[in-house]
Amino acid sequence: MTGVLIWTDSVGLSNHSQPVTSKRMKDEATESGPLGRRLLEDAEEMRRSGYLVVDAIVDRWSRLDDGPAWQGATRDATGPLLHGPPPEEGRDLDGLLEQVLQDVMPLAARIDHPRFLAFIPSSPSWASVLASFLISGYNVFQGTWLESAGPSQIELTVTDWFRDWVGYPKGGGGLFTSGASVANLVAIVAAREVAGNPGRATLYLSEQAHASVQRAAGIAGIAPELIRVVAADEEHRMIPSRLHQAIRRDRAEGLRPFCLTATAGTTNTGAIDPLNELAAIAREEGLWYHIDAAYGGFAVLDPRTRPLLKGLELSDSITLDPHKWLFQPYETGCLIARDATRLESAFRIMPEYLQDAAWGPEHVNFCDRGPQLTRVFRALRVWLAVHRYGLAAHRDAIAHGIALAEQVAARIRREGELELLAPQSLGMVCFRYRGRPGALRDDRLDDVNAHIQSTIVQSGFAMISSTRMKGRFSLRFCILNARTTAGDVGRVLDRILELGREFAA
Ligand SMILES: *Cc1c(COP(=O)(O)O)cnc(C)c1O
Repeated sequence: MTGVLIWTDSVGLSNHSQPVTSKRMKDEATESGPLGRRLLEDAEEMRRSGYLVVDAIVDRWSRLDDGPAWQGATRDATGPLLHGPPPEEGRDLDGLLEQVLQDVMPLAARIDHPRFLAFIPSSPSWASVLASFLISGYNVFQGTWLESAGPSQIELTVTDWFRDWVGYPKGGGGLFTSGASVANLVAIVAAREVAGNPGRATLYLSEQAHASVQRAAGIAGIAPELIRVVAADEEHRMIPSRLHQAIRRDRAEGLRPFCLTATAGTTNTGAIDPLNELAAIAREEGLWYHIDAAYGGFAVLDPRTRPLLKGLELSDSITLDPHKWLFQPYETGCLIARDATRLESAFRIMPEYLQDAAWGPEHVNFCDRGPQLTRVFRALRVWLAVHRYGLAAHRDAIAHGIALAEQVAARIRREGELELLAPQSLGMVCFRYRGRPGALRDDRLDDVNAHIQSTIVQSGFAMISSTRMKGRFSLRFCILNARTTAGDVGRVLDRILELGREFAA
Protein backbone atom coordinates (compact mmCIF):
# COMPACT_ATOMS: atom_id res chain seq x y z
CA MET A 1 0.00 0.00 0.00
CA THR A 2 1.57 3.29 -1.01
CA GLY A 3 0.53 6.85 -0.49
CA VAL A 4 -0.78 6.19 2.97
CA LEU A 5 -0.96 9.34 5.00
CA ILE A 6 -0.06 9.80 8.60
CA TRP A 7 -0.25 12.68 10.98
CA THR A 8 2.66 15.16 11.48
CA ASP A 9 2.99 18.17 13.71
CA SER A 10 3.46 20.83 11.05
CA VAL A 11 0.78 20.29 8.42
CA GLY A 12 -1.28 17.68 9.98
CA LEU A 13 -0.35 15.24 7.23
CA SER A 14 2.54 13.75 5.36
CA ASN A 15 2.83 11.21 2.62
CA HIS A 16 4.53 7.94 3.45
CA SER A 17 5.28 5.07 1.18
CA GLN A 18 5.11 2.71 4.11
CA PRO A 19 1.80 1.60 5.51
CA VAL A 20 0.87 3.08 8.81
CA THR A 21 2.36 0.69 11.30
CA SER A 22 -0.28 1.14 13.87
CA LYS A 23 1.13 -0.13 17.09
CA ARG A 24 -0.50 -3.43 17.55
CA MET A 25 -3.46 -2.73 19.66
CA LYS A 26 -3.07 -4.33 22.98
CA ASP A 27 -6.01 -6.29 24.09
CA GLU A 28 -7.38 -3.51 26.18
CA ALA A 29 -10.28 -5.61 27.21
CA THR A 30 -8.07 -7.86 29.26
CA GLU A 31 -6.35 -4.88 30.84
CA SER A 32 -9.37 -2.86 31.70
CA GLY A 33 -11.02 -3.37 35.00
CA PRO A 34 -13.97 -5.65 35.63
CA LEU A 35 -16.46 -2.78 35.26
CA GLY A 36 -15.54 -1.88 31.67
CA ARG A 37 -15.32 -5.52 30.67
CA ARG A 38 -18.95 -6.12 31.37
CA LEU A 39 -19.87 -4.43 28.09
CA LEU A 40 -17.57 -6.67 26.07
CA GLU A 41 -18.20 -10.14 24.69
CA ASP A 42 -15.44 -12.63 24.14
CA ALA A 43 -14.48 -13.52 20.60
CA GLU A 44 -16.03 -16.97 20.53
CA GLU A 45 -19.32 -15.71 21.89
CA MET A 46 -19.35 -12.96 19.26
CA ARG A 47 -18.93 -15.50 16.49
CA ARG A 48 -21.53 -17.85 17.90
CA SER A 49 -24.21 -15.23 18.45
CA GLY A 50 -23.36 -13.58 15.13
CA TYR A 51 -24.12 -16.85 13.34
CA LEU A 52 -27.44 -17.05 15.19
CA VAL A 53 -28.43 -13.72 13.68
CA VAL A 54 -27.24 -14.70 10.22
CA ASP A 55 -29.18 -17.96 10.51
CA ALA A 56 -32.32 -16.11 11.56
CA ILE A 57 -32.13 -13.80 8.56
CA VAL A 58 -31.37 -16.60 6.13
CA ASP A 59 -34.26 -18.68 7.51
CA ARG A 60 -36.59 -15.75 7.14
CA TRP A 61 -35.52 -15.11 3.57
CA SER A 62 -35.83 -18.77 2.59
CA ARG A 63 -39.37 -18.99 3.92
CA LEU A 64 -40.72 -15.50 3.27
CA ASP A 65 -43.58 -16.87 1.27
CA ASP A 66 -44.83 -19.14 4.08
CA GLY A 67 -45.66 -16.29 6.41
CA PRO A 68 -48.16 -13.45 6.09
CA ALA A 69 -47.27 -10.39 4.05
CA TRP A 70 -48.49 -8.25 6.89
CA GLN A 71 -49.05 -8.72 10.58
CA GLY A 72 -49.91 -5.89 12.92
CA ALA A 73 -51.11 -5.45 16.48
CA THR A 74 -52.65 -2.74 18.63
CA ARG A 75 -51.13 -1.30 21.80
CA ASP A 76 -53.35 -3.58 23.93
CA ALA A 77 -51.33 -6.46 22.59
CA THR A 78 -47.87 -4.95 22.20
CA GLY A 79 -47.76 -3.19 25.59
CA PRO A 80 -48.18 -6.23 27.85
CA LEU A 81 -45.90 -8.23 25.59
CA LEU A 82 -43.04 -5.80 25.18
CA HIS A 83 -43.22 -2.85 27.53
CA GLY A 84 -41.16 -2.84 30.68
CA PRO A 85 -38.37 -1.16 32.63
CA PRO A 86 -34.73 -1.67 31.72
CA PRO A 87 -33.20 -4.55 33.69
CA GLU A 88 -30.39 -3.86 36.12
CA GLU A 89 -28.50 -6.97 35.10
CA GLY A 90 -28.09 -8.50 31.66
CA ARG A 91 -29.03 -12.00 30.58
CA ASP A 92 -28.06 -14.48 27.93
CA LEU A 93 -28.11 -13.31 24.36
CA ASP A 94 -29.68 -16.50 22.99
CA GLY A 95 -32.81 -16.03 25.06
CA LEU A 96 -33.02 -12.39 24.13
CA LEU A 97 -32.59 -13.03 20.43
CA GLU A 98 -35.26 -15.68 20.63
CA GLN A 99 -37.63 -13.22 22.27
CA VAL A 100 -36.95 -10.57 19.65
CA LEU A 101 -37.43 -13.06 16.82
CA GLN A 102 -40.64 -14.42 18.31
CA ASP A 103 -42.37 -11.41 19.79
CA VAL A 104 -41.05 -8.31 18.06
CA MET A 105 -39.98 -8.96 14.50
CA PRO A 106 -43.12 -10.84 13.38
CA LEU A 107 -45.26 -7.84 14.36
CA ALA A 108 -44.17 -5.86 11.35
CA ALA A 109 -45.03 -5.74 7.70
CA ARG A 110 -42.91 -8.15 5.69
CA ILE A 111 -42.00 -5.57 3.15
CA ASP A 112 -39.79 -7.96 1.21
CA HIS A 113 -42.55 -10.59 0.91
CA PRO A 114 -43.14 -11.36 -2.78
CA ARG A 115 -46.81 -10.34 -2.45
CA PHE A 116 -46.17 -7.17 -0.49
CA LEU A 117 -47.39 -4.76 -3.16
CA ALA A 118 -48.44 -1.90 -0.88
CA PHE A 119 -47.00 1.61 -0.58
CA ILE A 120 -43.51 1.35 -2.03
CA PRO A 121 -41.93 -1.95 -1.06
CA SER A 122 -38.28 -2.60 -0.46
CA SER A 123 -36.30 -5.80 -0.84
CA PRO A 124 -32.63 -5.42 -0.06
CA SER A 125 -30.06 -7.77 -1.53
CA TRP A 126 -27.90 -9.89 0.74
CA ALA A 127 -24.68 -8.02 -0.06
CA SER A 128 -26.30 -4.73 0.93
CA VAL A 129 -27.53 -6.23 4.21
CA LEU A 130 -24.09 -7.62 4.98
CA ALA A 131 -22.65 -4.17 4.26
CA SER A 132 -25.03 -2.75 6.86
CA PHE A 133 -23.72 -5.19 9.43
CA LEU A 134 -20.16 -4.41 8.48
CA ILE A 135 -20.54 -0.66 8.75
CA SER A 136 -22.09 -1.00 12.20
CA GLY A 137 -19.33 -3.30 13.35
CA TYR A 138 -16.59 -1.01 12.05
CA ASN A 139 -18.62 2.01 13.10
CA VAL A 140 -17.12 4.25 10.45
CA PHE A 141 -17.63 7.96 11.04
CA GLN A 142 -18.55 9.16 7.58
CA GLY A 143 -18.61 12.87 8.36
CA THR A 144 -15.11 13.93 7.40
CA TRP A 145 -12.42 12.70 5.03
CA LEU A 146 -9.97 12.79 7.93
CA GLU A 147 -11.93 10.10 9.70
CA SER A 148 -12.99 8.04 6.68
CA ALA A 149 -10.75 8.37 3.63
CA GLY A 150 -11.60 4.97 2.13
CA PRO A 151 -15.32 5.17 2.87
CA SER A 152 -15.46 8.76 1.61
CA GLN A 153 -13.85 7.65 -1.64
CA ILE A 154 -16.53 4.97 -1.97
CA GLU A 155 -19.27 7.56 -1.36
CA LEU A 156 -17.72 9.75 -4.05
CA THR A 157 -17.48 6.79 -6.41
CA VAL A 158 -21.09 5.68 -5.94
CA THR A 159 -22.52 9.20 -6.11
CA ASP A 160 -20.51 9.64 -9.32
CA TRP A 161 -22.23 6.53 -10.70
CA PHE A 162 -25.59 8.06 -9.85
CA ARG A 163 -24.52 11.38 -11.38
CA ASP A 164 -23.67 9.57 -14.61
CA TRP A 165 -26.89 7.53 -14.60
CA VAL A 166 -29.07 10.62 -14.33
CA GLY A 167 -27.00 12.38 -16.98
CA TYR A 168 -25.39 15.20 -15.01
CA PRO A 169 -22.00 16.49 -16.18
CA LYS A 170 -18.77 16.24 -14.19
CA GLY A 171 -18.97 18.54 -11.20
CA GLY A 172 -22.24 16.93 -10.23
CA GLY A 173 -22.27 15.01 -7.00
CA GLY A 174 -24.11 14.54 -3.78
CA LEU A 175 -24.45 12.55 -0.63
CA PHE A 176 -26.23 9.64 0.91
CA THR A 177 -29.06 10.50 3.28
CA SER A 178 -31.46 8.59 5.48
CA GLY A 179 -34.04 8.72 2.72
CA ALA A 180 -35.85 10.90 0.25
CA SER A 181 -37.43 13.09 2.91
CA VAL A 182 -34.03 14.37 3.97
CA ALA A 183 -32.75 14.46 0.39
CA ASN A 184 -35.67 16.76 -0.51
CA LEU A 185 -34.83 18.94 2.48
CA VAL A 186 -31.19 19.22 1.42
CA ALA A 187 -32.28 20.28 -2.07
CA ILE A 188 -34.67 22.95 -0.85
CA VAL A 189 -32.15 24.41 1.58
CA ALA A 190 -29.52 24.52 -1.18
CA ALA A 191 -32.03 26.20 -3.51
CA ARG A 192 -32.86 28.81 -0.89
CA GLU A 193 -29.18 29.56 -0.26
CA VAL A 194 -28.41 29.87 -3.97
CA ALA A 195 -31.31 32.31 -4.28
CA GLY A 196 -29.71 34.37 -1.52
CA ASN A 197 -32.21 33.52 1.18
CA PRO A 198 -34.80 36.01 -0.02
CA GLY A 199 -37.78 37.04 2.03
CA ARG A 200 -41.14 35.79 0.69
CA ALA A 201 -39.37 32.85 -0.97
CA THR A 202 -41.95 30.87 -2.93
CA LEU A 203 -41.81 27.21 -3.89
CA TYR A 204 -43.85 25.25 -6.45
CA LEU A 205 -44.89 21.63 -6.41
CA SER A 206 -47.66 19.60 -7.94
CA GLU A 207 -50.74 18.34 -6.14
CA GLN A 208 -49.26 14.86 -6.64
CA ALA A 209 -45.88 15.69 -5.04
CA HIS A 210 -44.87 13.55 -2.07
CA ALA A 211 -45.87 15.05 1.28
CA SER A 212 -42.23 15.11 2.33
CA VAL A 213 -41.58 17.98 -0.08
CA GLN A 214 -44.11 20.15 1.66
CA ARG A 215 -42.72 19.18 5.04
CA ALA A 216 -39.15 19.89 3.88
CA ALA A 217 -40.22 23.31 2.64
CA GLY A 218 -41.73 24.00 6.06
CA ILE A 219 -38.55 22.93 7.85
CA ALA A 220 -36.55 25.13 5.48
CA GLY A 221 -38.64 28.06 6.67
CA ILE A 222 -40.86 28.56 3.63
CA ALA A 223 -44.13 30.07 4.79
CA PRO A 224 -47.09 27.71 4.27
CA GLU A 225 -48.90 30.25 2.13
CA LEU A 226 -45.83 30.49 -0.13
CA ILE A 227 -45.83 26.80 -0.94
CA ARG A 228 -47.76 26.75 -4.21
CA VAL A 229 -49.59 23.60 -5.14
CA VAL A 230 -49.97 23.39 -8.91
CA ALA A 231 -52.78 21.35 -10.48
CA ALA A 232 -52.09 18.06 -12.25
CA ASP A 233 -53.68 16.81 -15.46
CA GLU A 234 -55.84 13.72 -16.07
CA GLU A 235 -52.73 11.58 -15.92
CA HIS A 236 -51.58 13.14 -12.65
CA ARG A 237 -48.73 15.18 -14.15
CA MET A 238 -48.08 18.78 -13.24
CA ILE A 239 -49.62 21.18 -15.77
CA PRO A 240 -46.79 23.43 -17.03
CA SER A 241 -49.07 26.29 -18.11
CA ARG A 242 -50.62 26.42 -14.63
CA LEU A 243 -47.17 26.51 -13.11
CA HIS A 244 -46.07 29.34 -15.37
CA GLN A 245 -49.19 31.37 -14.61
CA ALA A 246 -48.65 30.95 -10.90
CA ILE A 247 -45.02 32.04 -11.07
CA ARG A 248 -45.86 35.15 -13.09
CA ARG A 249 -48.72 36.09 -10.83
CA ASP A 250 -46.59 35.64 -7.73
CA ARG A 251 -43.73 37.66 -9.15
CA ALA A 252 -46.12 40.46 -10.05
CA GLU A 253 -47.24 40.46 -6.44
CA GLY A 254 -43.70 40.87 -5.17
CA LEU A 255 -43.07 37.30 -4.10
CA ARG A 256 -39.76 35.59 -4.80
CA PRO A 257 -40.23 32.33 -6.70
CA PHE A 258 -37.04 30.32 -6.08
CA CYS A 259 -37.69 26.60 -6.44
CA LEU A 260 -39.68 24.19 -8.55
CA THR A 261 -40.06 20.60 -7.39
CA ALA A 262 -41.17 18.07 -9.98
CA THR A 263 -41.69 14.34 -9.48
CA ALA A 264 -40.40 11.49 -11.60
CA GLY A 265 -42.57 8.63 -10.45
CA THR A 266 -45.23 9.88 -8.07
CA THR A 267 -46.04 7.85 -5.00
CA ASN A 268 -49.69 7.72 -5.92
CA THR A 269 -49.64 6.47 -9.50
CA GLY A 270 -46.01 6.47 -10.69
CA ALA A 271 -46.74 9.46 -12.94
CA ILE A 272 -43.78 11.34 -14.39
CA ASP A 273 -44.16 15.11 -14.64
CA PRO A 274 -43.36 16.67 -18.04
CA LEU A 275 -39.71 17.10 -17.10
CA ASN A 276 -38.53 18.92 -20.24
CA GLU A 277 -41.28 21.50 -20.27
CA LEU A 278 -40.85 22.16 -16.59
CA ALA A 279 -37.10 22.56 -17.11
CA ALA A 280 -37.74 25.27 -19.70
CA ILE A 281 -39.97 27.19 -17.29
CA ALA A 282 -37.50 26.86 -14.43
CA ARG A 283 -34.71 28.12 -16.67
CA GLU A 284 -36.73 31.03 -18.00
CA GLU A 285 -37.82 32.04 -14.51
CA GLY A 286 -34.45 31.45 -12.84
CA LEU A 287 -35.75 28.81 -10.41
CA TRP A 288 -33.80 25.97 -8.86
CA TYR A 289 -35.24 22.87 -10.50
CA HIS A 290 -35.45 19.91 -8.16
CA ILE A 291 -36.79 16.52 -9.22
CA ASP A 292 -38.00 14.08 -6.60
CA ALA A 293 -37.16 10.79 -8.30
CA ALA A 294 -37.07 8.86 -5.05
CA TYR A 295 -39.16 6.07 -6.44
CA GLY A 296 -38.74 6.34 -10.20
CA GLY A 297 -35.18 7.57 -10.67
CA PHE A 298 -33.37 4.25 -10.93
CA ALA A 299 -35.65 3.23 -13.79
CA VAL A 300 -33.15 5.18 -15.96
CA LEU A 301 -31.09 1.99 -15.80
CA ASP A 302 -33.72 0.20 -17.90
CA PRO A 303 -33.09 1.19 -21.54
CA ARG A 304 -36.77 0.70 -22.40
CA THR A 305 -37.89 3.11 -19.66
CA ARG A 306 -35.06 5.61 -19.86
CA PRO A 307 -36.72 7.75 -22.60
CA LEU A 308 -39.69 8.39 -20.27
CA LEU A 309 -37.29 10.04 -17.83
CA LYS A 310 -35.71 12.32 -20.39
CA GLY A 311 -35.27 15.74 -18.84
CA LEU A 312 -33.95 14.48 -15.50
CA GLU A 313 -30.54 15.73 -16.62
CA LEU A 314 -31.88 19.30 -16.99
CA SER A 315 -32.50 19.72 -13.28
CA ASP A 316 -30.36 21.22 -10.53
CA SER A 317 -30.86 18.37 -8.09
CA ILE A 318 -32.41 14.92 -7.96
CA THR A 319 -33.62 12.82 -5.04
CA LEU A 320 -33.05 9.08 -5.35
CA ASP A 321 -34.01 6.34 -2.90
CA PRO A 322 -31.68 3.36 -3.27
CA HIS A 323 -33.78 1.71 -0.54
CA LYS A 324 -36.57 1.49 -3.09
CA TRP A 325 -35.56 0.55 -6.62
CA LEU A 326 -31.89 -0.19 -6.02
CA PHE A 327 -32.64 -3.03 -3.61
CA GLN A 328 -30.98 -1.53 -0.54
CA PRO A 329 -32.00 -1.70 3.11
CA TYR A 330 -33.65 1.26 4.82
CA GLU A 331 -32.15 4.04 5.38
CA THR A 332 -30.38 4.43 2.07
CA GLY A 333 -31.43 7.66 0.37
CA CYS A 334 -29.49 10.05 -1.82
CA LEU A 335 -29.40 13.55 -3.22
CA ILE A 336 -27.41 14.38 -6.34
CA ALA A 337 -26.84 17.99 -7.41
CA ARG A 338 -25.75 19.21 -10.81
CA ASP A 339 -23.09 21.26 -9.02
CA ALA A 340 -21.99 19.63 -5.80
CA THR A 341 -20.26 22.79 -4.55
CA ARG A 342 -23.69 24.37 -4.15
CA LEU A 343 -24.49 21.84 -1.46
CA GLU A 344 -21.27 22.72 0.27
CA SER A 345 -21.93 26.43 0.21
CA ALA A 346 -25.32 25.77 1.77
CA PHE A 347 -24.22 23.36 4.47
CA ARG A 348 -20.51 23.78 5.24
CA ILE A 349 -19.62 24.36 8.85
CA MET A 350 -16.11 24.57 10.17
CA PRO A 351 -16.08 25.10 13.91
CA GLU A 352 -12.72 25.19 15.70
CA TYR A 353 -13.03 21.67 16.95
CA LEU A 354 -13.20 20.42 13.36
CA GLN A 355 -10.19 22.42 12.10
CA ASP A 356 -8.13 19.26 11.67
CA ALA A 357 -10.63 18.00 9.14
CA ALA A 358 -10.02 20.68 6.49
CA TRP A 359 -8.02 18.81 3.86
CA GLY A 360 -9.00 21.02 0.94
CA PRO A 361 -11.77 20.76 -1.66
CA GLU A 362 -10.53 17.50 -3.20
CA HIS A 363 -11.17 15.76 0.08
CA VAL A 364 -14.88 16.01 0.55
CA ASN A 365 -16.20 16.20 4.06
CA PHE A 366 -19.63 14.73 3.53
CA CYS A 367 -20.88 16.54 6.63
CA ASP A 368 -20.52 19.69 4.50
CA ARG A 369 -23.15 18.54 2.00
CA GLY A 370 -26.10 17.99 4.28
CA PRO A 371 -27.49 18.35 7.78
CA GLN A 372 -25.72 15.41 9.48
CA LEU A 373 -22.27 15.48 11.06
CA THR A 374 -22.10 11.90 12.27
CA ARG A 375 -23.14 9.74 9.35
CA VAL A 376 -23.06 6.01 8.69
CA PHE A 377 -21.25 4.62 5.67
CA ARG A 378 -24.36 3.97 3.58
CA ALA A 379 -22.59 4.06 0.24
CA LEU A 380 -20.91 0.73 0.98
CA ARG A 381 -24.25 -1.05 0.69
CA VAL A 382 -24.68 0.05 -2.92
CA TRP A 383 -21.03 -0.40 -3.80
CA LEU A 384 -20.93 -3.95 -2.47
CA ALA A 385 -24.23 -4.98 -4.06
CA VAL A 386 -23.41 -3.54 -7.48
CA HIS A 387 -19.98 -5.19 -7.45
CA ARG A 388 -21.39 -8.46 -6.18
CA TYR A 389 -24.33 -8.83 -8.59
CA GLY A 390 -23.35 -6.46 -11.38
CA LEU A 391 -25.25 -3.56 -12.82
CA ALA A 392 -27.02 -5.84 -15.31
CA ALA A 393 -28.72 -7.78 -12.52
CA HIS A 394 -30.02 -4.55 -11.00
CA ARG A 395 -31.21 -3.29 -14.37
CA ASP A 396 -32.98 -6.60 -15.08
CA ALA A 397 -34.69 -6.58 -11.68
CA ILE A 398 -36.05 -3.07 -12.32
CA ALA A 399 -37.24 -4.08 -15.79
CA HIS A 400 -38.86 -7.18 -14.28
CA GLY A 401 -41.01 -5.03 -11.95
CA ILE A 402 -42.12 -2.82 -14.82
CA ALA A 403 -42.91 -5.80 -17.04
CA LEU A 404 -45.08 -7.33 -14.31
CA ALA A 405 -46.93 -4.03 -13.85
CA GLU A 406 -47.58 -3.99 -17.60
CA GLN A 407 -48.93 -7.53 -17.45
CA VAL A 408 -51.22 -6.61 -14.57
CA ALA A 409 -52.51 -3.57 -16.46
CA ALA A 410 -53.08 -5.66 -19.59
CA ARG A 411 -55.10 -8.22 -17.65
CA ILE A 412 -57.16 -5.47 -15.97
CA ARG A 413 -57.99 -4.11 -19.42
CA ARG A 414 -59.04 -7.59 -20.56
CA GLU A 415 -61.12 -8.47 -17.50
CA GLY A 416 -64.44 -6.68 -17.78
CA GLU A 417 -64.85 -6.77 -14.00
CA LEU A 418 -61.74 -4.71 -13.29
CA GLU A 419 -61.08 -1.11 -14.22
CA LEU A 420 -57.85 0.92 -14.36
CA LEU A 421 -58.25 4.22 -12.49
CA ALA A 422 -54.96 5.71 -13.66
CA PRO A 423 -52.56 4.87 -16.47
CA GLN A 424 -50.08 2.21 -15.35
CA SER A 425 -46.72 3.93 -14.94
CA LEU A 426 -43.38 2.34 -13.99
CA GLY A 427 -44.26 -0.39 -11.47
CA MET A 428 -47.55 1.16 -10.30
CA VAL A 429 -51.08 0.11 -11.14
CA CYS A 430 -54.19 1.79 -9.70
CA PHE A 431 -57.48 0.01 -10.34
CA ARG A 432 -60.69 -1.26 -8.81
CA TYR A 433 -63.19 -4.05 -8.98
CA ARG A 434 -66.31 -2.82 -10.75
CA GLY A 435 -68.19 -6.08 -11.30
CA ARG A 436 -70.00 -7.37 -14.34
CA PRO A 437 -71.90 -4.71 -16.30
CA GLY A 438 -74.95 -3.59 -14.36
CA ALA A 439 -74.23 -5.86 -11.37
CA LEU A 440 -73.01 -3.16 -8.98
CA ARG A 441 -74.26 0.37 -8.44
CA ASP A 442 -71.53 3.01 -8.71
CA ASP A 443 -72.09 4.20 -5.17
CA ARG A 444 -71.30 0.72 -3.81
CA LEU A 445 -67.92 0.41 -5.50
CA ASP A 446 -65.95 2.21 -2.78
CA ASP A 447 -67.29 -0.13 -0.12
CA VAL A 448 -66.77 -3.24 -2.18
CA ASN A 449 -63.17 -2.35 -2.95
CA ALA A 450 -62.43 -1.37 0.64
CA HIS A 451 -63.77 -4.79 1.69
CA ILE A 452 -61.64 -6.54 -0.88
CA GLN A 453 -58.55 -4.76 0.36
CA SER A 454 -59.11 -5.36 4.05
CA THR A 455 -60.02 -9.01 3.54
CA ILE A 456 -56.84 -9.65 1.57
CA VAL A 457 -54.62 -7.78 4.02
CA GLN A 458 -56.13 -9.46 7.08
CA SER A 459 -55.72 -12.88 5.52
CA GLY A 460 -51.98 -12.23 5.21
CA PHE A 461 -52.00 -13.60 1.68
CA ALA A 462 -50.85 -10.30 0.23
CA MET A 463 -50.42 -6.72 1.27
CA ILE A 464 -52.01 -4.17 -1.00
CA SER A 465 -52.74 -0.56 -0.24
CA SER A 466 -55.36 1.84 -1.44
CA THR A 467 -55.57 5.42 -2.55
CA ARG A 468 -58.15 7.77 -4.00
CA MET A 469 -58.45 8.67 -7.65
CA LYS A 470 -60.76 11.64 -8.18
CA GLY A 471 -62.50 10.74 -4.98
CA ARG A 472 -62.90 7.08 -5.92
CA PHE A 473 -61.47 4.32 -3.76
CA SER A 474 -58.64 2.69 -5.68
CA LEU A 475 -56.64 -0.46 -5.08
CA ARG A 476 -52.98 0.05 -5.83
CA PHE A 477 -50.08 -2.24 -6.67
CA CYS A 478 -46.45 -1.17 -6.57
CA ILE A 479 -44.33 -3.98 -8.02
CA LEU A 480 -40.66 -3.74 -7.22
CA ASN A 481 -39.44 -6.85 -5.44
CA ALA A 482 -37.16 -9.10 -7.50
CA ARG A 483 -38.82 -12.09 -5.79
CA THR A 484 -42.29 -11.21 -7.05
CA THR A 485 -43.37 -13.47 -9.90
CA ALA A 486 -46.11 -13.31 -12.51
CA GLY A 487 -47.76 -16.09 -10.49
CA ASP A 488 -47.77 -13.91 -7.37
CA VAL A 489 -49.45 -10.92 -8.96
CA GLY A 490 -51.79 -13.20 -10.93
CA ARG A 491 -52.96 -14.91 -7.74
CA VAL A 492 -53.60 -11.58 -6.03
CA LEU A 493 -55.72 -10.49 -8.99
CA ASP A 494 -57.58 -13.82 -8.89
CA ARG A 495 -58.31 -13.26 -5.23
CA ILE A 496 -59.56 -9.73 -5.89
CA LEU A 497 -61.96 -11.06 -8.53
CA GLU A 498 -63.20 -13.84 -6.22
CA LEU A 499 -63.81 -11.46 -3.35
CA GLY A 500 -65.41 -8.89 -5.61
CA ARG A 501 -67.89 -11.49 -6.87
CA GLU A 502 -68.60 -12.62 -3.32
CA PHE A 503 -69.28 -9.10 -2.09
CA ALA A 504 -71.28 -8.19 -5.16
CA ALA A 505 -73.56 -11.21 -4.70
C1 LIG B 1 -40.78 7.33 -0.87
C2 LIG B 1 -40.82 8.70 -1.38
C3 LIG B 1 -40.48 9.78 -0.58
C4 LIG B 1 -40.14 9.64 0.89
O1 LIG B 1 -38.97 8.93 1.00
P1 LIG B 1 -38.36 8.40 2.37
O2 LIG B 1 -37.19 7.64 1.88
O3 LIG B 1 -39.43 7.57 2.99
O4 LIG B 1 -38.00 9.57 3.20
C5 LIG B 1 -40.45 11.02 -1.16
N1 LIG B 1 -40.79 11.20 -2.45
C6 LIG B 1 -41.15 10.18 -3.24
C7 LIG B 1 -41.52 10.43 -4.66
C8 LIG B 1 -41.17 8.89 -2.73
O5 LIG B 1 -41.53 7.87 -3.52
